[in-house]
Amino acid sequence: MAVEKTTICPRCAYESIEQLHTSPVPGAWDVLQCRQCLYTWRTSEPARRTQRDAYPESFRMTAEDIAGAPEVPTIPPLRNQP
Ligand SMILES: [Zn+2]
Repeated sequence: MAVEKTTICPRCAYESIEQLHTSPVPGAWDVLQCRQCLYTWRTSEPARRTQRDAYPESFRMTAEDIAGAPEVPTIPPLRNQP
């Protein structure tokens, strides 16, 4: 099965993609990471995880989305104190 190389990030369409890992069997798969949003995927995953045009619209991001993303919230205090 031929693996089609993804040239843009499925999530944010950024064009700078880093190859993090490659399969022990040459040509089976690569692990790629977007340099902008850090989305990481393996090339053997289904199109909805690896292709921009098949990636679910509700999960897509733009550069503005990333710049405006709120900080990760802290863990709230326990409801019941011991
Ligand atoms: Zn991205």
